[in-house]
Amino acid sequence: MRQDQIDALRNLSIAPQQLFIAGRHEPASAGTTLDVVSPLDGSRLTTLADAGAADVERAIIAARKAFDTGSWPRAAPAERKKVLHRIADLIEKHALELAVLGVRDNGTEIAMAYKAEPGSAAGTFRYYAEAVDKVHGEIAPTADNVLGLVHREPVGVVAAIVPWNFPLMIGAWKIAPALAAGNCVVLKPAETASLSLLRLAELCAEAGLPEGVLNVVTGRGAVAGEALGLHMDVDVLAFTGSGVTGRRLLEYSARSNLKRVYLELGGKSPNIVFADAPDLDLAAKISAQGIYRNSGQVCVAGSRLLVERSIREAFVAKVAAIAARMTVGDPLDLATEAGAVNSAAQLERNLAHVERAAAEGAVLVTGGRRILEETGGYYMQPTLFDAVHPDMALAREEVFGPVLAAIPFDDEADAVRIANATSYGLAAAVWTSSLSRAHRMVRAIKAGVVHVNTYGGADITVPLGGVRQSGNGHDKSLHALDKYTDLKTAWISL
Ligand code: ADP
Repeated sequence: MRQDQIDALRNLSIAPQQLFIAGRHEPASAGTTLDVVSPLDGSRLTTLADAGAADVERAIIAARKAFDTGSWPRAAPAERKKVLHRIADLIEKHALELAVLGVRDNGTEIAMAYKAEPGSAAGTFRYYAEAVDKVHGEIAPTADNVLGLVHREPVGVVAAIVPWNFPLMIGAWKIAPALAAGNCVVLKPAETASLSLLRLAELCAEAGLPEGVLNVVTGRGAVAGEALGLHMDVDVLAFTGSGVTGRRLLEYSARSNLKRVYLELGGKSPNIVFADAPDLDLAAKISAQGIYRNSGQVCVAGSRLLVERSIREAFVAKVAAIAARMTVGDPLDLATEAGAVNSAAQLERNLAHVERAAAEGAVLVTGGRRILEETGGYYMQPTLFDAVHPDMALAREEVFGPVLAAIPFDDEADAVRIANATSYGLAAAVWTSSLSRAHRMVRAIKAGVVHVNTYGGADITVPLGGVRQSGNGHDKSLHALDKYTDLKTAWISL
């Protein structure tokens, strides 16, 4: 990927976007649209179809028909595998186009987006393509006068509601295993990051995915998302997003057909640095990346920096110096380390968190302000607060922005106590040279993933999911297939 290749794509005009239902592009039946605003400069990029309940209904009918009578769920596994590999091939072929389109829509810096979006989406489709004929049923160890067969069946119609921070990657984490297992999908992207997923749907069709197997409804969460959540014919709802919406989805399920709801919600993940960390400079660098890349719009972001008191001042200063030097700006510049905040609303929320933290007595070490306002885009300085008390809002509430809260601790037990003093449980990290301490911490911390001497970067082979109010169920790895398959027992008297 070269800068001139990116620049050639950065100003291409984007046609008004329609829904993708049963293999066809269609407007919303009421003719309504939403503006797509670029976070890079506040300009209008194009429009999206603003789906209503009737449009969602059509998409679900298409998915149900494809599931009940279509070829996809009945295809030989080798056939599904071929199509999923072809989707991966096409994502790779169009990687730069997808990455630039996505960045213009959501603001992530291109260096990261290129790897994290088309890069991981292609890898995810390949991984589940290969899993198609390797995950199967069981024969139970019964007495010899009976036969117990455990079938693994697709669940039916899967609704996936995804957020705006990594639409292709997170979309693929849900779509690929759902399709691999033989389901049909209705995808609802976020209002502020739909473009690359709409393009993905076209590529899926080009790869030979039959019509109706993947449908995309764009529009507002409170309308299209709610209609999916309340629908009687959706079997599984897989979601990544905020806790507020996650709670609503559980309610929708309870009020409708008890569809299974899998939630990957946010976190307030502790990044714990002991004085015996093997390399404090590296720890500082990766800690800064772990909160500031993609302007902190990362569900696993290490947003609480727990630092052992003996190194606190020096370590916080190191991280602050890195934060202050980071290149924030044009997400389509390869040198940019942190791009734009996704929307004006998110930027406002970030700044409100900064104001509140200062009012509660946290000490602002660096950042805290909106920058590059003259571009019309939404940019914010990497921000670090020190002397954050575990009771302050900044230690408890997810910001989803480039705001780091440094909290001192005294010893291992104190670190564990502070780390677990949160309603969340998504990710964590421990920096230490002691193998025993690393393992003790992995056991003691309540989180879905605990990094040791690094932060982030886990690949498709390992599960990602939260505990406590970070959600339930897992994306990635073979475990993700559990969400999209039912077990059925055949108990046969011989
Ligand atoms: P954020 O606050 O980060 O935007 P949300 O949870 O609001 O996170 O958004 C994640 C996804 O959930 C988006 O696709 C959004 O459209 C959708 N969504 C928002 N509100 C609802 C709702 N009431 N019902 C269903 N989906 C929703």
